[in-house]
Amino acid sequence: MAANSETNSEAEDQDKEYVGFATLPNQVHRKSVKKGFDFTLMVAGESGLGKSTLVNSLFLTDLYKDRKLLNAEERITQTVEITKHTVDIEEKGVKLKLTIVDTPGFGDAVNNTECWKSVADYIDQQFEQYFRDESGLNRKNIQDNRVHCCLYFISPFGHGLRPLDVEFMKALHEKVNIVPILAKADTLTPTEVKKKKIKIREEIEQYGIKIYQFPDCDSDEDEEFKQQDTELKESIPFAVIGSNTVVEAKGKRVRGRLYPWGIVEVENSAHCDFVKLRNMLVRTHMQDLKDVTRETHYENYRAQCIQSMTRMVVKERNRNKLTRESGTDFPIPMVPGVGDNETEKLIREKDEELRRMQEMLQRIQDQMHTQKEAY
Ligand code: GDP
Repeated sequence: MAANSETNSEAEDQDKEYVGFATLPNQVHRKSVKKGFDFTLMVAGESGLGKSTLVNSLFLTDLYKDRKLLNAEERITQTVEITKHTVDIEEKGVKLKLTIVDTPGFGDAVNNTECWKSVADYIDQQFEQYFRDESGLNRKNIQDNRVHCCLYFISPFGHGLRPLDVEFMKALHEKVNIVPILAKADTLTPTEVKKKKIKIREEIEQYGIKIYQFPDCDSDEDEEFKQQDTELKESIPFAVIGSNTVVEAKGKRVRGRLYPWGIVEVENSAHCDFVKLRNMLVRTHMQDLKDVTRETHYENYRAQCIQSMTRMVVKERNRNKLTRESGTDFPIPMVPGVGDNETEKLIREKDEELRRMQEMLQRIQDQMHTQKEAY
């Protein structure tokens, strides 16, 4: 009987007419492959923790060919200088434009107060640029430089998080997806790694730091996938080892670090979480990191921007109304010590800025209106 009903449903299937949208995934896939993917990764943390080595190991490319290392004297006065490296990587016909945003020197200077500020400003500037482009006329070819993920390196030599780590992550956690990394894991024994991970996870919780949360697995996923997901969540902070050299281990050439007492292999999961981190970044969570950036971090920024622009425009309108009612035609008070021409210039600039904001606000409102109508 069962065989019969199967045969019937097969026949029904063959009779059924198809609209053809089953090819949609292929079409989307083909279009995305043609266009290529882009991803922006930021690395942060004290210098010397192995950030550049890890990035090179992750993407098998030398992103830091032209890097100039500063001497101690230069580092004392150095402020956090942000640098950007971009590489196009191609694998099996799929193109990835990878941008690495580095924050060298962070934590190096004698006075490290507010060293997170320039990093936070950088992230905001990328949001601002995107916001301007998105509300502008040429919305088709927007260059998206928003930071999708920040690997935050924690020293293996301290006792858990340092005050600077807490301050830095708290300043950034609402702007970017933070993934904590336990650096240079080969300097710790497996027991030490385990203990440090627990301590760091507890401190993250205790200080209310919101790191990137891996999305929960659907209940219908297979057991192997669920197991991988649990392991991934328990790996935080990822204990990593980086190396720019290939060594020979048990007759095989591997990326590793050669010590008089043995070899540590970067891609050996018994030695560290490097493979887990790379799989998470490249194979399993790249799209989610981009989605969270767009839907949460960028939306927060955009909402704040619209709110303050609306407030400014309303304030200015009220001021203009008051001026018209009182009949004064020179509403802005003279700035002490500034000549008439200077004041007029300031007023003109302010008016121009206001006009641009009003235009932008109008466009955003129009966009929202069209989106609403489309639903
Ligand atoms: P960055 O300043 O954070 O970019 O650090 P670098 O990548 O320049 O590394 C600083 C030093 O640490 C170099 O001598 C690297 O060879 C070494 N290093 C990098 N990664 C590791 C690692 O995983 N373990 C150990 N023991 N040393 C590492």
